[in-house]
Amino acid sequence: MIDRFERNINNMRISITQQCNLDCFYCHHEGEKNEGAGVENGHLTPPEIEKITQIASQVGIQKLKITGGEPLLRKDIVEIVKRTAKHMKEVSMTTNGVLLKKYAGALNGAGLKRINISFDALDPTTFQRITNKEFFYEVKEGIESAICAGLYPVKLNMVILKGVNDKDIQVAMDYASEIGAVLQLIEFEGSKEESGNSIFKKHYLNLRDWENWLKSRSVEVRQRRMHRRNKYILPSENDGKAEVEIVRAMHNSEFCQNCTRLRVTSSGELKPCLLKNDNLINIIGPIRKGASDKELKDLFEYAILKKEPYWRA
Ligand code: SAM
Repeated sequence: MIDRFERNINNMRISITQQCNLDCFYCHHEGEKNEGAGVENGHLTPPEIEKITQIASQVGIQKLKITGGEPLLRKDIVEIVKRTAKHMKEVSMTTNGVLLKKYAGALNGAGLKRINISFDALDPTTFQRITNKEFFYEVKEGIESAICAGLYPVKLNMVILKGVNDKDIQVAMDYASEIGAVLQLIEFEGSKEESGNSIFKKHYLNLRDWENWLKSRSVEVRQRRMHRRNKYILPSENDGKAEVEIVRAMHNSEFCQNCTRLRVTSSGELKPCLLKNDNLINIIGPIRKGASDKELKDLFEYAILKKEPYWRA
C-alpha cells in the first residue's frame, strides 16, 4: 500500500518479546516505551503472529523481520518462523546471536532467509562494556553457525559508539570479509529528546566521515531502495571483497522519506515509526475479540496512513 508520502509500505518489523539476555547500554528497545495493549495477556502467540502477518500480506507487505528483545529467547521461535514464512516472500531476523548456535539449522529449515547479528565488539572486554554480559564467544560461535547453516546473507550489525568501538571498524571489516558476511555500520540513533541525554552526547558519532572514506575506496556502490542506504564494495586482503552497508538515520530526511516499514510492538500494536509512540494502533485486541479480516485490514491501512517522516528537511 502507498502511504501519504508516496512510499510503498512493503516491509514489516515485528517484536516478539521485550525480554533480552543482553543489557546493551545504548539500546533503543525498538522504540517500545510502555507495557502496551496485549501485555496483560502475555506474548503474542504463534497463531496471532501468523494472523498479523497474513493480514499484512493483504496490504502489500512482502518482507518480515523478526526482532525483540531477543527473539531466540522464545522457545517457539522455529514455529513462528515457519508460520510467518507461509505469508511472506522473505522472513529474516535480527538477533544478538547468543543462542544462535542452537537454532541456526532449524531456523533455516523453517524458512528463515537472511539474518542480522548484533556485533558491536571485537573482543570480550568491549563486549562486556557494551552488553553488561560475558557472551562474546557464544556470539562468535553463533555467527559461524549461521554461515555454516546456509543463512544468506549474514549481516553483522555494528552500532558505532564513540570512544568504545569506533577504533575497531577496520578490524570488523576484515573479519566480516574473511567469513563472507556483510558488515552493517549503524549510527547510534535516538529521538529528538533522547539525543540530548548524556549517553548520547558521549557516544554519538556522525558516520558521514566514515561513509566518505568508504566511498573513496569502493570499487562499486549499490543503493537499497529502503532508506536509500548505500552498500560499498571494497577490495580486501587476498583478492577478496568487503561489503559494508551504512545506516545513517539521525537528522537524515532522505532516510525517513524512503522508509517503507511498518512495525508491530511485542504487545500487539501497529507502530508507524521507531521514534514515535503517540500514533500506535492496537491490533491484538481486535484479533482476540474475533474481528474480521476486513476490520483488521482497515486497521493496517489506518496505521499506514499515520506514517510520516520523523526527520524532515
Ligand atoms: N536482540 C536483537 C538483536 O540484538 O539484534 C534484536 C533487538 S535489537 C534492539 C535490534 C538492532 O537494533 C540491533 O542490531 C541493535 O544493535 C540495534 N540498536 C539498538 N539500539 C540502537 C540504537 N540506539 N541506535 C542504533 N541501533 C540500535
